[in-house]
Amino acid sequence: MNRDAAKARVDARIDGERLWQSLMAMAEIGATPGGGSGRIALTDSDRQARDLFVKWAKEAGLAVRVDRIGNIFARRAGTDAKAPPVLAGSHLDTQPLGGRFDGVYGVLAALEVLRALDDHGVETRSPLDAVVWTDEEGCRFAAGMVASGVFAGKVALADALRLADPDGVTIGVALEKIGYAGPAPVGGVPVAAYFEAHIEQGPVLEAEGKTIGVVLGAQARRYFRVSVAGEEGHAGTLPMDRRKDALVGAARMVVALNALAFTFAPRPVITVGDLRVRPNSRNTIPGGCVFVIDSRHPEDAMLDRIEAAMRRACGEIAAAAGLGIAIEDLSRSDATRFDDRCITTVRRAAERLGLAHRDIHSGAGHDACNLALAAPTGMIFVPCEKGISHNETENAKPEDLAAGADVLLQAMAEWAR
Ligand SMILES: [Zn+2]
Repeated sequence: MNRDAAKARVDARIDGERLWQSLMAMAEIGATPGGGSGRIALTDSDRQARDLFVKWAKEAGLAVRVDRIGNIFARRAGTDAKAPPVLAGSHLDTQPLGGRFDGVYGVLAALEVLRALDDHGVETRSPLDAVVWTDEEGCRFAAGMVASGVFAGKVALADALRLADPDGVTIGVALEKIGYAGPAPVGGVPVAAYFEAHIEQGPVLEAEGKTIGVVLGAQARRYFRVSVAGEEGHAGTLPMDRRKDALVGAARMVVALNALAFTFAPRPVITVGDLRVRPNSRNTIPGGCVFVIDSRHPEDAMLDRIEAAMRRACGEIAAAAGLGIAIEDLSRSDATRFDDRCITTVRRAAERLGLAHRDIHSGAGHDACNLALAAPTGMIFVPCEKGISHNETENAKPEDLAAGADVLLQAMAEWAR
C-alpha cells in the first residue's frame, strides 16, 4: 500500500442494519402487490419518497438544498467550506412496476455513509453531498437521466423543464405541483468527484460469487428504425412465389441481427423489441414493417463495425427478397469511460475491505454517465438476485448492500481528505 492509500484508510464502517431498514421503509412508498415499488418520477409517491429522504437528512444534521430541476443535495460540512464537494447518490424514482433497490440503494447508501461518518466522528476536508437526481428512469417524460444531464451541462434547463408526459404535463409543472421546484441553480459548480453505488441489474457478479463490481464505464448505445417496404396483397389469392411480404423480410432481418451478435468478441447486445406490421390484418399480406434495433457495446469503434454489419445484413436480405428498406438513426450515445483514479479508488477500497471484486461494464445507463462529463466519476456495483431488475421481484442481499456502502464510504473519504 502506498502512502496515499494509507492516508486514505478510514476505519469507520457503515451500519448495514440501518441501511437495510431504510431501504425497506422507503420501499413502502408506492409499494406494489408483487413486492416491488412503483414511484414514477414527479408523482405523489415520488414526492413522499423525497419527503422521507429530506426528513432523514435533516435528522442526520445535513443541510438540504433543492435545485431548479428538483435534484436534492443533503450536505455534511467539511473542514474547508471552500473545497469542492464529493457527491454520491442515484435516484428514488422507479419503473411503474419497479424493484426496491434500483436507484434507491445508491441514494440511501450515500445517506448511510454520511450517518456512519458522524457516528464515528470522522471529519473530512471537503463537504460530502448525498444526492437524489430527478427522473432517472424516463418512463413518464420519455427521456431518462434528464436532471443529471442538466447538472452536467449536457441538457439545457429550459429544454428539460419543457419535456411533457403523455397528458401534456411538463417537468416544470410537475415539479411545482409536488413542491420540488427548488431555488438553487443547477450545476455549474466544481465537484471533486462523484460516486454511485447501484445493483448490477445483470447476472455476472452473482454467477461469479463476487461482491463488488468495479465499474469501468457504460456501453455505447445506438438505436435504429428499420422500415421494410413490400406489397400488400390478398392472403388467399396471391401465390407464394409472387409475394413481397414485408414481415417475412423483417423476420429474416431480426434472426440475422441476433445471429450477428454472436460473431463479435467481445459480444454486443442486439435487441428488436418493437415491431409493427402494416396493415396488421390477418388476411392481407404485410405491405410494410417497421422495427427498432437497440444495439450496445462497451467500445464505440467496435459498435461502428457492428453497425456496418447490421446495415449490410438487412440490406442484403431486402435486396434478395425484392423489398425496399430504409434505416434511420434514432439516437446514439457514446461509451462512457469512468475516471481512472475513481476506478482505482473503488478497486483499492474493495481490496482493503477484503471483498471479492471484478472489473465490469455497465449494460444500463446511469446518472453517473452524465456526471462523468462534469467530474471525476466512478461506480460501485453489488450483485442482485439472478440479475433481475426493472421488476417487482428485484432482490439483493443485505450483506452485499452493506459491503457496497462500505466501499462507497472509503471512496468518498479518500476523495474528501
Ligand atoms: Zn437505476
